[in-house]
Amino acid sequence: MNYISTRGKIAPITFSEAVMMGLATDGGLLLPETLPRVDMTTVSGWKNLSYQRLAFEIIRLFADDLPGHVLEDLIERSYASFKHPQVTPITHRDGLYILELFHGPTFAFKDVALQLLGNLFELLLEKQDRTMNILGATSGDTGSAAIHGVRGKARINIFILHPDGRVSPIQKLQMTTVTDDNVFNIAIRGTFDDGQAIVKAIFNDLAFKENYHLGAINSINWARVLAQVVYYVYAWLKLHGRGHQSVDFSVPTGNFGDIFAGYVAKRLLPEGLLNRLILATNTNDILARFVSRGDYSKGPVSATISPSMDIQVASNFERYLYYLRDEDSTQVVRDMEQFTATGTLDLSSLADRVTADFASRAVSEEETLVTIREFYTGHQYLLDPHTAVGVCAGRQFRDAKRPMVCLATAHPAKFGEAVARAIGKSPELPPALADLREEDSRCVILDADAEQIKSYLMEHARS
Ligand SMILES: *Cc1c(COP(=O)(O)O)cnc(C)c1O
Repeated sequence: MNYISTRGKIAPITFSEAVMMGLATDGGLLLPETLPRVDMTTVSGWKNLSYQRLAFEIIRLFADDLPGHVLEDLIERSYASFKHPQVTPITHRDGLYILELFHGPTFAFKDVALQLLGNLFELLLEKQDRTMNILGATSGDTGSAAIHGVRGKARINIFILHPDGRVSPIQKLQMTTVTDDNVFNIAIRGTFDDGQAIVKAIFNDLAFKENYHLGAINSINWARVLAQVVYYVYAWLKLHGRGHQSVDFSVPTGNFGDIFAGYVAKRLLPEGLLNRLILATNTNDILARFVSRGDYSKGPVSATISPSMDIQVASNFERYLYYLRDEDSTQVVRDMEQFTATGTLDLSSLADRVTADFASRAVSEEETLVTIREFYTGHQYLLDPHTAVGVCAGRQFRDAKRPMVCLATAHPAKFGEAVARAIGKSPELPPALADLREEDSRCVILDADAEQIKSYLMEHARS
């Protein structure tokens, strides 16, 4: 299977090349040349598979340039770090199914993708006898999941910028207590936006990028989307085993990565099995406005209690737009140019197409807190604020005819402050979080200055 760009200006490349390319060199996003679809016989054959085995069956459809045994071993190693034998177990509360995606090393769903991506990078670098220096900025979650994905890997150094004093103490320790030689935590005297601007400036210095083999970890990498397709199918199989044919999913959404994986799963499975995707946002509602009335326009970002969904422009949106435009890359280029120039895109003429696949809801801060409280007191189950956004939307769109699966994207202990506001006490910390100690941490503090960060990189980069 070959990969192409949403903007149509690159020659088809292999899966391995797509993983290493990240962002397409024409500025677009990479996608399979054609999306595969399996038949009912194939899906029925998957019903008793372990998570790892199912992941192998699905991923190999998209990654046919990797030998089967290599891929199998890679998947096995990637999910050995998960604390639950089912990797993404499902539980039933209040008429909803909760798909727990937070059993990985950093207690957030990003581990599902980044554990696999770290191993894929290692494999491909080894094959090409190359090295990579990963540079990224984080507001908390992605950084720690990325660090845990590549810690200890021989050909990779990772440099993660976080805003000094502006990530939660647990988030900070989850990053800085990883003291492997290839991990470099940098607290910058500035904000998350400063961090992002610095990373962008350094990536734009093409000579520097080339010399230091810079690599990115943001959610535009195709392998991240692909890894996430697996748990939608896994959940469908579990519910099919309980007699259901068709299922809805509610997805707490920021960059449109997770829910786009749901869209790929919907097209992978026979028609109608994955019925509808509920796109749940917090008050940063650009995507909810897009789904409900075709209005994709930038607003100001506000800080919420579900910070991993505080986004203005959804980096994976262009992938869906490509299908919405019937794979017409010329039209996608036109759309993206217009969006860049004006900050707005009117897609209302395509609204019927969108609502055939998605429904959406923006959830307020108050509703998020109430949902956490109700679920805790009524159903003895503690939701993190991101998951609560999805549960609130999922309840609204639940249809008696089919089950609603809500994706649980983080462990409540990661967002203890918001949880305490909702239920009046802090959630219990799992041992792996309770045992994090300041004494065991390593981190440098630097000014929010691209030149300083560059010198630090030059000093510590893998050559
Ligand atoms: C990243 C993240 C999300 C949003 O996922 P997208 O793929 O960006 O839509 C939701 N919840 C949590 C906890 C996250 O870390």
